[in-house]
Amino acid sequence: MKLLEERIRQDGVVLPGNVLKVNQFLNHQIDPQLMYEIGQEFARLFKESPITKILTVEASGIAPAIMAGLVMNVPVVFARKKKPSTLDAGVYTAEVYSYTKKVTNTISVDQKFLSAKDNVLVIDDFLANGQAVQGLLEICRQAQAEVSGVGIVVEKSFQKGVSLIKESGVRLESLARIASFENGEVRFVEE
Ligand code: 5GP
Repeated sequence: MKLLEERIRQDGVVLPGNVLKVNQFLNHQIDPQLMYEIGQEFARLFKESPITKILTVEASGIAPAIMAGLVMNVPVVFARKKKPSTLDAGVYTAEVYSYTKKVTNTISVDQKFLSAKDNVLVIDDFLANGQAVQGLLEICRQAQAEVSGVGIVVEKSFQKGVSLIKESGVRLESLARIASFENGEVRFVEE
């Protein structure tokens, strides 16, 4: 997605540890117009799929997910990172190691928001080693929901998440694909 690549070139800051900071439009300040275009692009890519629900994880997945949900006219569920209390019956849970925070979170979704009747599009802001997406796919598995695919805003193609998802046979669509960071510059995968 050209518009997104241009925005990453303009505002993205490469940090140590192969982390791209995009606080100008996605991770802190949010550009609603860009998010809307992203939502439209996900809707276009998955228009043949009978999606009934979008699943993401708080916090940064919510903005792109909600715009996709708006365009596709389906509800958006976000997995929570707060550990569910033992009193919380009826939740699906998965363990997710955070790439940026270096801690393991238990993510959870209330069972009433996801079931075997659902066909899910999983959306997240970044794909690095694939832990967040795998946690979301695990929650879909527990719910016995169908998964039509995974939509990622920024894929770091040189990290292992891409192959993990492809090996699991799930369709992956990423709107910007980063081949490498070289001397603080972002290089995108050539089409
Ligand atoms: P993964 O679980 O695929 O290893 O990492 C994905 C998660 O870590 C995303 O939900 C995102 O919040 C965070 N993340 C991973 N890499 C980056 C990055 O380069 N920049 C930012 N802003 N977040 C990242």
